[in-house]
Amino acid sequence: MSGRAPKSLAELRKRVGAVRLRGADAARARQMLDLYLDTAERHGQSLDVVLREVKAGLPALRIGGAELQGQAASEPVRTAACAPGCAFCCILAGDEGAVILEAEARHLHAALAPLAGAPDGRAWSSRACPALDPDTRMCRAYDARPMICRTYLSPDSEACRSIAEGVPAPGPVTLGAQRLYLTVQALGRAALAGHVTVPTYALSRIAAAAVEGRDLSAALREARHKPRTLDDERARLAPPHA
Ligand code: SF4
Ligand code: SF4
Repeated sequence: MSGRAPKSLAELRKRVGAVRLRGADAARARQMLDLYLDTAERHGQSLDVVLREVKAGLPALRIGGAELQGQAASEPVRTAACAPGCAFCCILAGDEGAVILEAEARHLHAALAPLAGAPDGRAWSSRACPALDPDTRMCRAYDARPMICRTYLSPDSEACRSIAEGVPAPGPVTLGAQRLYLTVQALGRAALAGHVTVPTYALSRIAAAAVEGRDLSAALREARHKPRTLDDERARLAPPHA
């Protein structure tokens, strides 16, 4: 991919069309991102604004969010045991937690910064997300919670408890909207390679930095992933035999 900056939205669309990306949802993600860029072009949006949106992950969030709405009546949603205060899924693996995009990192930090210094989820469980309230086990950044928190659900909370204790158990699923959103971001990143850096961030680290009183710049610096993390996460969520 050329390191030269795209000079127009039409050129950016062409680049998106030329990206080679594997995965079952790559064609659909490309179609949706192209539609997003086409709409921006027809509304006379400037290239700079759209480049900033792609970097932050806004197209991925809007496309993934629309997909999530479309899955609202799906079997996993209808049979989910998820309820307020049930938070085994907020006990996160390692110190990374999950992959989030820049816009999500900014929202999460803004929601949690005013709570700096208050007891956080780690007072309940050492690996719990710092956004969690340790007493009520409710998310203290519910409206700003990232896509992964909206797409992960389970028909059985005991399976989630078992997984949180390190014992694999069947049941929990991540809705396809999560993979689509990651794929849209991967496409945008590949189309801008060499020109605009499109990073991802670790959910737990952003939340920890916010509740420990560090500012947004420090949080983004601490939580920034290695470039391959996005591809690794897409691969992890790929359906079998894809
Ligand atoms: S995913 Fe599991 S732990 Fe999380 S709310 Fe649903 S049932 Fe509870
Ligand atoms: S942001 Fe909220 S919902 Fe997501 S893992 Fe943290 S506490 Fe749980």
